[in-house]
Amino acid sequence: MKTLKIMCLYPNEMNIYGDHGNLLALQKRAEWHGFDTEYIQHEPNKKFDTSADIIIGGGGQDSGQDKIQADLLKNGAALHKLAAAGTPMLMICGLYQLFGHYFETHAGHHIDGIGIFDAWTKAGPTRLIGNIIIEAVIASESEAIPNKIEIIGYENHSGLTYLNKAQKAFGKVVKGAGNNGSDGTEGARTNNVFGSYLHGPILPKNPALADELIRLAAIKKFGSFEPKEIDDTLATKARDIATTRPR
Ligand code: GLN
Repeated sequence: MKTLKIMCLYPNEMNIYGDHGNLLALQKRAEWHGFDTEYIQHEPNKKFDTSADIIIGGGGQDSGQDKIQADLLKNGAALHKLAAAGTPMLMICGLYQLFGHYFETHAGHHIDGIGIFDAWTKAGPTRLIGNIIIEAVIASESEAIPNKIEIIGYENHSGLTYLNKAQKAFGKVVKGAGNNGSDGTEGARTNNVFGSYLHGPILPKNPALADELIRLAAIKKFGSFEPKEIDDTLATKARDIATTRPR
């Protein structure tokens, strides 16, 4: 049996609006695709395990971000190394912000990030809250995977994120605010590291993205990925209803 190790960063401090569902979706879908999974939970002050095949992290209150800042900075070099080596990662909201350079809160307090994304975040005058739909390209056209997909989720953030010139966005906003409510971008992508404001949680609602993380991890570790057919009737129904929800 082939094993994929899934690491969750700071699930006690950084896990809101159902982000824990991302772990469950990855574990289940990896199993359905024929893998065993092993779960690694990373907490502040725990020795960082660099053997993870997929790394995920969720959103959190400003206070949660403050609590994990020191540990994240301590492990920044290890995370940069894994990102450069092609390890797939998915960081939502609060951790997405801290995978950029910094988040400046309303009170003007700087919470430093690790700069895997060339982006910075500053709290805006109002929170951006509501259902959101974006369009994202999750694999290159040469790969046999739906190229452009609609990603559905829910956002709630004070932070406005701005991408510097060379930084690729994750997607384009179709409905909602995204990175900052003004430039139409949502999230960021560097190598196989995805950052996004989408809770929802994002992976159960968007199985194609979960499968993409699994595919990237399997190809990196085993050299190939043969997807099994999965019955996504329920996920598809949930997506259909979610797209009709008002903002
Ligand atoms: N505290 C951050 C903000 O308000 C992140 C929020 C979140 O993770 N949902 O922007």
